[in-house]
Amino acid sequence: NRLANQIAAGEVVERPASVVKELVENCIDAGASRIEVDIERGGARLIRIIDNGCGINKADLMLALTRHATSKISTTEDLANIRSLGFRGEALASISAVSRLTLTSRQHGSEQAWQAIAQGRDMAVEILPAAAAPGTRIEVADLFFNTPARQKFLRTEKTEFNHIEEVVKSHALANFQIAFMLKHNLKVIKRIPACGEPSQQALRIAAICGKPFIDNAIRFSCQHDVLMVEGWIGRPGYHRSESDIQYVFINRRPVKDKTLNHAIRQAYEGLLPAGRMATYVIYLTVDPAQVDVNVHPTKHEVRFSEQRLVHDLLAKSVRDALV
Ligand code: ADP
Ligand code: MG
Repeated sequence: NRLANQIAAGEVVERPASVVKELVENCIDAGASRIEVDIERGGARLIRIIDNGCGINKADLMLALTRHATSKISTTEDLANIRSLGFRGEALASISAVSRLTLTSRQHGSEQAWQAIAQGRDMAVEILPAAAAPGTRIEVADLFFNTPARQKFLRTEKTEFNHIEEVVKSHALANFQIAFMLKHNLKVIKRIPACGEPSQQALRIAAICGKPFIDNAIRFSCQHDVLMVEGWIGRPGYHRSESDIQYVFINRRPVKDKTLNHAIRQAYEGLLPAGRMATYVIYLTVDPAQVDVNVHPTKHEVRFSEQRLVHDLLAKSVRDALV
């Protein structure tokens, strides 16, 4: 089982940013309104994530670290109807197989926090009483300490941190109601307050994508039968040499999907100078039963039951907003 966990870890945990992605998704699923991400040395030394979500009770703490144990779905019908970001029950087990992981959690309404410590091994986990505010704190130290081959592939501290920052930014774009704080080597890098009012949304977009983007963006919204498309898209006159402001979300899940990216490129066809990149933050809302996120362990790719239709509606919505 230790071997199985390490193999699974290879798929889910490619680099520190993949750990941050999985852990932040768990905070969001736990209903947190505040998420703090503390990084040391690009995440290779320490990734600490603190949320004020529902917490985990003592009995479930061990289970949380067990492979294929998820509290989020229980039947195959659930699998066809996923509303949470997680559902594979694989992340914590995989991460704990390749790091020294400490999970501290206190369920709301409970007096006591409990802590589980796992060190690159399977279930020889200790559970101890601890002191903590309601919510969950996970510390992942010395990532890949027991998989030197993986460790060798880590890039510089700065590069790894940039990937982490990208993960936090995309989740902050997807969850306006959550406050985020990101620190690197004890320094605050991003402090993003929760934004309750729709009128504050542009401020959050500006905080993440920069003021020039929001100043040059068209706010649009299109309701189709099977699909809602909305967001901010850069005017054709505003473009970049890099693809750094290109975000697509499906039901508030950040995705990187070829079909969707193609649709947006098609919408911008003929509107951008050669070699220049479009900018966009686009939210798709679909019935969860119409979309399969269980295509790959990282859940970046998606499959729609009506792939072609979604592609064409997205392309048309963006094009109509542009011209
Ligand atoms: P998944 O998210 O696919 O269910 P994970 O391995 O990421 O699997 O997490 C396992 C379980 O641990 C979750 O189903 C959830 O019950 C619990 N859990 C993990 N992180 C948190 C958190 N921050 N707050 C509350 N519960 C959590
Ligand atoms: Mg998860």
